Amino acid sequence: MKIAILSRNKRLYSTRRMVQAGEDLGHEMHVIDTLRCYMSMVSHKPEIHFKGEVLEGFDAVIPRIGASITQYGTAVLRQFEMMGVFPVNESVAISRSRDKLRSLQLLSRKGVGLPVTGFAHSPDDIPDLISMVGGAPLVIKMLEGTQGIGVVLAETRKAAESVIEAFMGLNVSVMVQEYIKEAGGADIRCFVVGGKVIAAMKRQALPGEFRSNLHRGGSASLIRITPEERATAVRAARIMGLNVAGVDILRSNHGPLVMEVNSSPGLEGIETATNKDVAGMMIKFIETHARPNRTQTKGA
Ligand code: ADP
Ligand code: GLU
Repeated sequence: MKIAILSRNKRLYSTRRMVQAGEDLGHEMHVIDTLRCYMSMVSHKPEIHFKGEVLEGFDAVIPRIGASITQYGTAVLRQFEMMGVFPVNESVAISRSRDKLRSLQLLSRKGVGLPVTGFAHSPDDIPDLISMVGGAPLVIKMLEGTQGIGVVLAETRKAAESVIEAFMGLNVSVMVQEYIKEAGGADIRCFVVGGKVIAAMKRQALPGEFRSNLHRGGSASLIRITPEERATAVRAARIMGLNVAGVDILRSNHGPLVMEVNSSPGLEGIETATNKDVAGMMIKFIETHARPNRTQTKGA
């Protein structure tokens, strides 16, 4: 098969691994810089151009679209979809999962366990918002944050009020969330491919830090997850409409709580922690699901 990887950088671990895994399985792999794709729209004849050439003949596309280019990236991906190329994750599912409030609303509608979460627009509503989510301590998160940046633990109501006020004053949208203390600075990343958790790791924050992001110095290790955690991760990915997803879960006293569903989960941490060929499993998913020229995307 001829497979495109939409990625800004062919030297990234995840991109390199997917190229290698695809080539090992006999496929033709092309890394395409998402921001160098340009498109024309004519009725019934969608085209994508790349550095002067027309992109043609692809059977599947693996989107690795960074949060900062979601809009342009999903438009490029949508163009591939219109051309009948099988997307590992569809553009609609990616847009949906990138919107934190929308994702949490969709998950809550389906009864998935979530930390109690609130959001508001006006500073006048801060005191009541804090009460709604159960008071301090609580976690305040920038909606546009990634890699743990813009995630703050406020120990007291006063601290929470001033932090939320400060963010609102800067016109930064935030949500507030119940603090799951018993998670002990750890979370679980479940890597879902095609409706199955194919690898899982525990990420533990540094001492004195509650954010377990690897970018914040957290360390990853292999973990055995419970059937309930497995089922929760699979459901969360399905509700988002993602074939490939990184589902982040907190272990609470009342079961697994989903924090986030990531549509371009990184491979380095999970492959290193679990010693599994995650890239290969993604390519095998494509082999069984991509139907050249008959692709029907579910996106609306
Ligand atoms: P990002 O999307 O920037 O990674 P997250 O929402 O995943 O932000 O939060 C970063 C980290 O902070 C998580 O991996 C987790 O360890 C910790 N964390 C986030 N929310 C909570 C919470 N409600 N209770 C306890 N810990 C949390
Ligand atoms: N299928 C619609 C969409 O993705 C609505 C579901 C949703 O809100 O994600 O735009």
